[in-house]
Amino acid sequence: MKAMVLNEICDLKENRTPLQLTTLPIPTPKKKEILVKISACGVCHTELDEIEGRTPPSRFPMVLGHQVVGTVEETGPNSNRYKAGDRVGIAWIYSACGICTFCRQGNENLCEAFKATGRDANGGYAEYMTVPEDFAYNIPDVFSDSQAAPLLCAGAIGYRSLRLANISNGQNLGLTGFGASAHLVLKMVNYQHLDVKVFVFARSEKERDFAKELGAVWAGNTEDKAPEMLDAIIDTTPAWKPVVAALNNLRPGGRLVINAIRKEDRDKDYLLKLNYHEHLWMEKEIKSVANVARKDVSEFIKLAAKIPIIPEIEEYPLESANEALLELKERKIRGAKVLTLS
Ligand SMILES: [Zn+2]
Ligand SMILES: [Zn+2]
Repeated sequence: MKAMVLNEICDLKENRTPLQLTTLPIPTPKKKEILVKISACGVCHTELDEIEGRTPPSRFPMVLGHQVVGTVEETGPNSNRYKAGDRVGIAWIYSACGICTFCRQGNENLCEAFKATGRDANGGYAEYMTVPEDFAYNIPDVFSDSQAAPLLCAGAIGYRSLRLANISNGQNLGLTGFGASAHLVLKMVNYQHLDVKVFVFARSEKERDFAKELGAVWAGNTEDKAPEMLDAIIDTTPAWKPVVAALNNLRPGGRLVINAIRKEDRDKDYLLKLNYHEHLWMEKEIKSVANVARKDVSEFIKLAAKIPIIPEIEEYPLESANEALLELKERKIRGAKVLTLS
């Protein structure tokens, strides 16, 4: 099968083709696994973190990609949840131990044995992949394969972060950074919490305009002071300045939820501006969002079909994965980027 593989960590400024087109054997599904013939795989910022070593693959070569849609080609021994021809999705969570306290509580995203698709097991930048059947999801009919793919990451993690933000009716929610995940959160809030006002902080004017178009009551720059104090803020940026700025906008008892797999070191000095009294005093809280649990993916996909959330997409053939990744890095974004396989 054709696959785009990562052979080593590299700097995208120097290496414009981090992934190599390779031929790999089609994997065989093991016990309780399914073999999926891939039709679409979303391109995510996390792939940039993997390539540049901020969350490196656990082995090389690795097939990246964790927003996968395809059809079941074959089922392994004792695998009976799906049959050949079923359409399924695969997300960032590839597997977990199933027996630890976290797994038993449905927080398998925190499991010590957590494995990520496309980082610890081969993912979707290929024609086929295998996955444990319990870590695949049904995809509602309203979505095409390419439309469903980006929902499996940004949407599911956005859903989890909104859950952790613990916002209730009448409260004010802030979103700092307004990319794929944040704009989906805004759509979920519009649908679920009619009385929640959303305030958006974004560097680019285009993103701020987009936020207002989608119903944000206010949109300003990262460091701006919102016109009202906020009860919770979700941060989806890779930087530190938005963290400090967000804490300054929180009400007493407010919560900052950081939804970023890694923070970059570039502006880490900004943390020195952190002033205990202004930013943390009065029981302000900081919480991160780690990975996703299966519940987040399956609940979000159903919610997205109901709202409905149909993502804007930009398709690329598998062979153009490097081009799609570089455009993502350089913020040339017209919609969620999806690799398609014929
Ligand atoms: Zn992702
Ligand atoms: Zn576990």
